[in-house]
Amino acid sequence: MKQLQDSLPPYLKTENGDLWLTEDDRENLKISYRIKDVIFSQQSAFQHVMILDSYDFGRMLVLDGVVQTTSIDGHIYNEMISHIPLQLHPSAKKVLIIGGGDCGAAKEAAKYSHIEQIDMVEIDEMVVQSCKEHLPAVSGNLSDPRVRFIYTDGVAFVKERENVYDIIIIDSSDPVGPAEALFSYDFYASVRRALKDDGLMVCQSQSPIFHLDILKQTHANIRQLFPHVAVYTATVPTYPGGLWSFTIGSSIPLSLPETASLPNDTKYVNEAVLKQCFQLPEFMRKELE
Ligand code: SAM
Repeated sequence: MKQLQDSLPPYLKTENGDLWLTEDDRENLKISYRIKDVIFSQQSAFQHVMILDSYDFGRMLVLDGVVQTTSIDGHIYNEMISHIPLQLHPSAKKVLIIGGGDCGAAKEAAKYSHIEQIDMVEIDEMVVQSCKEHLPAVSGNLSDPRVRFIYTDGVAFVKERENVYDIIIIDSSDPVGPAEALFSYDFYASVRRALKDDGLMVCQSQSPIFHLDILKQTHANIRQLFPHVAVYTATVPTYPGGLWSFTIGSSIPLSLPETASLPNDTKYVNEAVLKQCFQLPEFMRKELE
């Protein structure tokens, strides 16, 4: 058993003959997943990348030991971070995704025929390649000619763009390491400049339960930069606390079309979810007032 433990990828442990991934990036909370198989495991220049097959969540992308997305619930997050802004800006043509290496958000955006270009700026090519090959439930093995994969730092990329995009989706990992700057005021200011006059941005703004401070700071930053701000939520079982938040900043008033024009193969977002997701629980409404 000692020998088996020594040859395991980092973050994995055996217990009574079973393999477990334990997320221990938080001080007071550990979350463990029973693992069937290690599909891919390698250190990139930026982080440790794994695709694991788990019992309850199917295949999952794990970066530096933290679960990012899974076959079972990845669609909830990816549909929410893409279809909500795409419904709010139904004539969008150019979309920029920052992060999003699992390709799920790009896959959803590519379902709209009026979108002409999707620039996907991901710092770590290994995440994209491993998800395309080993996590098709999330990535759909995306190969749409409108999607341009650009492997660079999203912060530097947006700094050099002005008045280019209709929608910018910031699909980042947690605010540590290379993703930390994706939560800063200066970064959102560059995002605003990279958007067209009627453009809008959305970012994942973390758990309202466990990271209320990050959500409030993100909301305050975006509010300083954009005249119209809205927060919406979804429940994503693999993220700590379940309840997850997204924050939108827009230069023009936010209003959903009378009738949504959603792709017909969504699994989570529908007309009712679109209308309901902006209804915030009382504690969030008060904190963000
Ligand atoms: N849905 C996931 C979640 O909320 O945990 C995250 C999606 S995706 C896997 C996040 C991606 O952001 C990672 O692949 C990571 O490599 C990428 N990333 C982190 N910092 C970045 C940066 N500065 N520029 C571009 N991509 C970045």
